[in-house]
Amino acid sequence: MSSTINFEHGALISGRKGRYSGVLDAFIDESKASHKNSVQIEIIIRVFFRDAWNNSKVNIDNKGKSKWTDTNGVTHWVELAPWPKGKLHNWSKRFVSNTKKFWDGKLWLKTPKAYKKFNLQTKGYVYRPNVWCRFTLESVQSRNLAHYDIDVAYIKDKDDFFRSHSVLYDSNDKQKTWRHEVGHLIGLAHPSAGNNSAHAYDDVPGYPDDAMGRGTKINTLHAKPWQAACAWLTGTKRSQWIPANSFQKPKRLRKA
Ligand SMILES: [Zn+2]
Repeated sequence: MSSTINFEHGALISGRKGRYSGVLDAFIDESKASHKNSVQIEIIIRVFFRDAWNNSKVNIDNKGKSKWTDTNGVTHWVELAPWPKGKLHNWSKRFVSNTKKFWDGKLWLKTPKAYKKFNLQTKGYVYRPNVWCRFTLESVQSRNLAHYDIDVAYIKDKDDFFRSHSVLYDSNDKQKTWRHEVGHLIGLAHPSAGNNSAHAYDDVPGYPDDAMGRGTKINTLHAKPWQAACAWLTGTKRSQWIPANSFQKPKRLRKA
């Protein structure tokens, strides 16, 4: 097996098409596949984190307070400050490593029978490897390199907060919020997004404690962006790639 990335399937580079969700790069890596290991599909998202203090869209009055209206229409006043030197960089590092660890490598896709290009011969047999869903989030230093630019507000009082949304985070957000927001960046909606907003966060039956709702867990419904990328990169339909939340060993098909 080759030790370099096989670009037979090309790379999916969506670039900066939209602003709020599902903008990403993706590629398929067959170099680690074997009679025991999966093909990997990797989604990569690059984010430029900016100090919200410098953004005129974040409305800051002359006492350093920011007024903002949450999704329920309630107005809040929060005292902001410029990020102390080096702190935003450190915050970004924590954010990236925490959310990458949460989303990376938790799901698998079963390669459809009809798709033969992953098949490999080894140890006298032909195997059909399945696909491991990988994720990388990178913090970059310029808008031009990023899929998203996200403002991060430094809040003076550590007990104060406002609710983050897609492109404005705050320094006091909890890790649970970070993981949820990165789910949106990957392209995931709330579990019941079709319903009105009061119920958007409700879990879908059979998928409790959903990280895209009010919960903390990844489930197979979250495989959608990897299914879509896999379908685009292989010229198949996304519904053919059945998601699983545990390792799926390669299928031994026949003697070589
Ligand atoms: Zn959300």
